[in-house]
Amino acid sequence: MKLRKVSAAAATALVLALTATACGGDNGGDSSGSGSDGGKTIKIGIKYDQPGLGLKEPDGSFSGFDVDVATYVAKELGYKPDQIEWVETKSADRENALSRGDVKMIAATYSITDERKQKVDFAGPYLLAHQDLLVKADSDIKEGTDLNGKKLCSVTGSTSAQNVKKEIAPKAQLQELGGYSECIAGLQSGALDAVTTDDAILAGFAAQDQYKGQFKLTGLKLSNENYGIGVKKGDTETLNKINDALEKMVSDGAWEKAVKDNFGPANYKNEPAPKIGQIVQ
Ligand code: GLU
Repeated sequence: MKLRKVSAAAATALVLALTATACGGDNGGDSSGSGSDGGKTIKIGIKYDQPGLGLKEPDGSFSGFDVDVATYVAKELGYKPDQIEWVETKSADRENALSRGDVKMIAATYSITDERKQKVDFAGPYLLAHQDLLVKADSDIKEGTDLNGKKLCSVTGSTSAQNVKKEIAPKAQLQELGGYSECIAGLQSGALDAVTTDDAILAGFAAQDQYKGQFKLTGLKLSNENYGIGVKKGDTETLNKINDALEKMVSDGAWEKAVKDNFGPANYKNEPAPKIGQIVQ
């Protein structure tokens, strides 16, 4: 298939569980724990290797749009930033991490799909991104280029890899790795023709100091990726609170600020804030 654009658009001690209710926090014992001060905490799944979205910095702190959104949501649920325990949830691990109760919620460039909705529930969406290709600055891959036979890289368990296999280029030589940072290394060394995933993610990599000038995005909107916050299937109470928090984040301007802070440096032109419950197909 030739490239084409898609149409637009133990619980902790029982006493903790009880007090959590009293202070308005969430008492999901399986994902709350004792903080260093003995207080309640919330475990949130994010990516650790996606600059601008979810990144573990060398000093151990966390940055990115997903981190800011999750921090805002956690605050609305009654957790201060120091009560958040960040957990790395790679693309292929997300549904299981929620089902097992390893984390209370996941904000990790997690697209809402019908397939995933059979296993988990989603709040949101809170961002609309599009699948794109990251190529070397001198690459001639562009709209109309046949990607079948090309060496592409994406991540196991991602919609990006699935889209390549099903639709975009079923005969491409697709490598599926554990994280996008691993794909980027292959693009830099010349072992790959392109890395494919959401434009928001690729823009974050391209803007990194060590890659400046080396890569470009093709600008193709190969899919619509509606980012949601994943919760355990049936956890409607948390889901509703998250949706309220996301609505508030947009209306009070914190969403726009998070967009500017995190996507500004990468010059990523994001879509406007989506409406809760409105999925762009
Ligand atoms: N948003 C896509 C997905 O949920 C690609 C990015 C990712 O792997 O997290 O699969």
